Amino acid sequence: MPFPHLLHGGDYNPEQWIRTPEVWDEDFRLMKLAGCNAISLGIFAWAMLEPEEGRFELGWMDTIFDKAEENGVQVILATPGGARPAWMPLKYPEVLRVDQYGRRQKWGGRHNHCFTSPVYREKCQIINAKLAERYGQRPNLILWHVNNEYSGECHCDLCQDAFRAFLRGRYHDDLDQLNHAWWSTFWSHTISDWSQIEPPSKIGETQVHGHTLDWKRFITHQTIDCFRSESEPLRRITPHVPITTNLMMGGFTDVDYYKLADACDVVSWDSYPSYHDRSDDWLGPLGAVWTSFIHSQRRAMKDKPFLLMESAPAMQNYKPVCKLKRPGLHAVEALQAVGHGSDSVLYFQWRKSRGGVEKFHGAVVDHYASEHVRTFREVAELGKALAKLDGVVGTNAQPEVAFIYDYENRWALNEAAGPINGKKDKDYDGVVREHYRPFWSNGIGVDVISQDHDFANYKLIVAPMLYMIRPGVGERLERFVTGGGTLVTTFFSGVVDESDLCFLNGFPGPLRKLMGVRAEETDTLYDDESVAIVSSRKNGAGLSGKYAAAQWCDLIHAEGAKVLASYGGEFYKGWPALTVNAHGRGRAYYIASRNDARFHDDFYDHLVRQLGLSRALGVTLPEGVTAVVRGGYVFVLGFNRADVKVNLSARAFRDVLSGKRVSGKVVLPRYSAMVLEPVAKTQARPPTPRRAGSRANRGRRPATSPAR
Ligand SMILES: [Zn+2]
Repeated sequence: MPFPHLLHGGDYNPEQWIRTPEVWDEDFRLMKLAGCNAISLGIFAWAMLEPEEGRFELGWMDTIFDKAEENGVQVILATPGGARPAWMPLKYPEVLRVDQYGRRQKWGGRHNHCFTSPVYREKCQIINAKLAERYGQRPNLILWHVNNEYSGECHCDLCQDAFRAFLRGRYHDDLDQLNHAWWSTFWSHTISDWSQIEPPSKIGETQVHGHTLDWKRFITHQTIDCFRSESEPLRRITPHVPITTNLMMGGFTDVDYYKLADACDVVSWDSYPSYHDRSDDWLGPLGAVWTSFIHSQRRAMKDKPFLLMESAPAMQNYKPVCKLKRPGLHAVEALQAVGHGSDSVLYFQWRKSRGGVEKFHGAVVDHYASEHVRTFREVAELGKALAKLDGVVGTNAQPEVAFIYDYENRWALNEAAGPINGKKDKDYDGVVREHYRPFWSNGIGVDVISQDHDFANYKLIVAPMLYMIRPGVGERLERFVTGGGTLVTTFFSGVVDESDLCFLNGFPGPLRKLMGVRAEETDTLYDDESVAIVSSRKNGAGLSGKYAAAQWCDLIHAEGAKVLASYGGEFYKGWPALTVNAHGRGRAYYIASRNDARFHDDFYDHLVRQLGLSRALGVTLPEGVTAVVRGGYVFVLGFNRADVKVNLSARAFRDVLSGKRVSGKVVLPRYSAMVLEPVAKTQARPPTPRRAGSRANRGRRPATSPAR
């Protein structure tokens, strides 16, 4: 049976308070007051669980399990591999990482294990087996949480050997294939023996892009291999308990999370948006728009609800200026996660550490451990709100729109030298965010997928800067459009293959015929430069007048595509800037430049109407507000620093949070949310939620709930 409520709680580290166990009782009293029903236990507790090699002390954890059970608190049990005890590297130096300069790292910090080391893996398996044997049958154990925020790389001999083995597999033991893929004749980089291959290093090789790409692929491969090794005893001893590992923040892209998600039963992630920066809270690089985008990716990864494993109920202590979280924002941020598919709101951490690097990081229980403080009161208020939302638990979404956001594509883009370089690299995330923002403002949910995902269920696919196109993807996109789908792609797409080798048949490579264009050159502009875009008369794409292009301008020839807008300046004045190609029963748009926000609003608003895409409230929302539908409820989320008015159109709703009936134009106060349940004129009936896995034409297995 799935746990019927949203999980609310967080990382619980009682071992920090083992000298004052009366704190534990106070913790459980406070959890009740805060409406918390779940803890993620023991993530950094290895030194307390196994103080000496082979000597285990689990008594304190037994006590915590008992207390949790007595208080109706569910346990997500963490395995402790994210930070190792000091005895281990002293006896087994191989568990420590070696950096790219060949220096063996010292013990300290976390995330510093060699993920190949047999000793590290063995020690993880031993402690994980102990935990599984001891707690596997506890009725309140609902999920395994393996390791913590896998990241980083190791250049030790073991990892180098594993890298070479990975390459032998990838290139079928054929150095010719590898040399071709790496284009190694350039600068005389030909490899004549596998032993000559080393990982990229700033004192060695960093400029063979195929090599760098393969190293990044290897990091993902080896991370997953390590995750599987750590999970092995859990799968064997407790096959009834699902497994997750917490993915890092949205800006972390060193591991291909689509692949890591495949190895998990449940996706979970740590969301730390960057609110209260100098930019608008909703629009910035880690603002509300981007957070919705990453939530949508996490849900789409397994086409079912995910877990928000970590968040901060108060300020985050690692920003340049650690602003206090303004009143109300915490609830909006939490409901944003739930609205986009999370079945939990969990924090790092439950109680603030007294010392150490995160002693100022926001927690539910402060150093002054009272329920009579602002943060605690806000968490408790949220706990009451979450308790009203049982109806969304386990429900999924069925977006009509997908965004292709692909890790390998991002790696390849950022590695490329030219045609634009600098501190923002190619700004893939920024470009993707610009294209996504109109969907956010229209209250249109999206799936965020890799280029390997099934395209069949969407009406519209947006694939900004699809620079790398892996084998078969062009054909699959062509089938999608032929079958009636609409595809939008942009400048600098279809440039290289999976080895970062340029296509030789004219850009956008495998998409050339589908888009009906050929990109001859790409011009790039300084930040203070722009080129006008002039819309064609009767363009049929919602454009009117002039727009401005910045940074990127592809010089394209229409080869069958219809020109909808052209450049109004530079030596390419009059060249096409926006085209559409009718193909089969669908259409393919090529946006040749990085355009201003008004262009995106006009273009996508028109496309939304043309394709009849459903909007959460049927209207475009004010700036800084989005709406998302989950389980039949409409989550209206306001990230503005001032009150705004939202038009609920002609429909009548009940706000589940306040219990009030609302309709027409309503005031959405600063940093606030509504969860709206449609009210029929004659009767008020709760909506019928759609459970995960009911998406008829996907034919996937039903959702594995994090709870039994
Ligand atoms: Zn290593």
